[in-house]
Amino acid sequence: MVRRFFADAPDFKLDFDALVEARREADEDVSVVVREVIAAVRRDGDDALRAYTWKWDRHDLDQTGWTIGRDVCERVFRDLDPDLRMALELAARRIATYHERQLPTDSDYVDGAGVRLGARWRAVESAGIYVPGGRATYPSSVLMNAIPAAVAGVSRVVMATPMPDGIANPLVLAAAYLAGIDEVRPIGGAQAVAALAYGTGSIPRVDVITGPGNAWVAEAKRQVYGVVGIDMVAGPSEIVVLADGANDADCIAADLLSQAEHDPTSQSILITNDRAFADHVAAAVEVQLGTLATSAVARSSWEAHGAIIVVPALDDAIPLIDALAPEHLQIATPRPRHLFDRVAHAGSVFLGQHTPEAIGDYIAGPNHVLPTGRRARFASGLSVLDFMKRTSVIELDERALRELGRAAVTLAEAEGLPAHAASVGRRLEWNSRSYNRS
Ligand code: NAD
Repeated sequence: MVRRFFADAPDFKLDFDALVEARREADEDVSVVVREVIAAVRRDGDDALRAYTWKWDRHDLDQTGWTIGRDVCERVFRDLDPDLRMALELAARRIATYHERQLPTDSDYVDGAGVRLGARWRAVESAGIYVPGGRATYPSSVLMNAIPAAVAGVSRVVMATPMPDGIANPLVLAAAYLAGIDEVRPIGGAQAVAALAYGTGSIPRVDVITGPGNAWVAEAKRQVYGVVGIDMVAGPSEIVVLADGANDADCIAADLLSQAEHDPTSQSILITNDRAFADHVAAAVEVQLGTLATSAVARSSWEAHGAIIVVPALDDAIPLIDALAPEHLQIATPRPRHLFDRVAHAGSVFLGQHTPEAIGDYIAGPNHVLPTGRRARFASGLSVLDFMKRTSVIELDERALRELGRAAVTLAEAEGLPAHAASVGRRLEWNSRSYNRS
């Protein structure tokens, strides 16, 4: 049975704090294993990659191949069921259109002191996108990672995805073709992240690694951060659904299960102001678990990490949502924007009774790679900016240097850095000599 909380109960605060603080992520063991894997890949390169792929994905890279060619991906794409192909194409178009609006513009202006200032954005040269493939396959994650990279203008995009038992998932390959990826590497886990970060004999290193994955992948990204850029450390998926009694209990139950089925450590929470509705949803979840093909994973997530919270009024949910800072927030109430305006922390929000979170997983357009584990307090979903970097631009003429130079010298001297002071001060002298000569 799922846990129930009543916000007007005396010990609610204690119970709720425990729910917020409960750890669902990698434990010590994972970080130790990942450290060993990264060290081995740095030391032994392809040999380590070969050995780990054999150990965890049960295939020999020398037999199955180190790269899957674009021609293979194209063939799979052409052979797709037409409905599936059209659905993927629609998703790709919508994701591209949404992300094109994220492209930043350069700035260039002259300020009051005569200093020309600006910022120039450029794409990173290469990106590695990780597409999970252990438990389930995620063609949608291919599009969500590769399309923002393409929109940013990254010239080399490598996709790493595990191929359990040496069997490639055709949908993932088809999506890679559609997203314009030239280089698909059938490797997964921490070893794939290490190979992308440090490079091996057969895999040139990249500048940025993005994409979701299990505990080993997330921990590997955390450990290689700094050597390469990463988008975020994404943990198990989560959803908070805020719904009043006017909703259909079966729909809300399905929304909750749509996150629970991802992983036993996923978290689905219903917050409602209607006790009877809470009972109906709990019952509907049980019924649906009876027939769901993914019920083993979904039940274990729902019973271990799920919760139903009954609040006196919908407004009382706002501080609870902010404390949870959920990856996904669904507000299924008649005036959802009224409530959302007061929510500070959520990775992605789905407003109204006709916006199930799953529509955002696939087709709406915004990215589905989102901050989890309360990180929506400070992080955002994957975007075009994760594949770009900004160079600030400064240009002074003589007059501008005269305006600012003295203050810079003063600050450099105060910091005890004489070479800094001289670098500005000598120029000021040089300028005044040339000024006096002319
Ligand atoms: P995965 O590709 O992340 O992991 C598979 C790899 O894990 C294997 O290749 C292997 O190298 C490694 N591995 C497995 N067992 C290991 C062990 N005992 N020791 C060391 N390494 C081991 O695929 P997955 O397992 O299916 O996990 C996918 C995860 O991604 C799920 O948690 C899912 O919720 C998440 N996900 C998140 C999003 C999102 O947008 N947040 C989207 C899709 C998937």
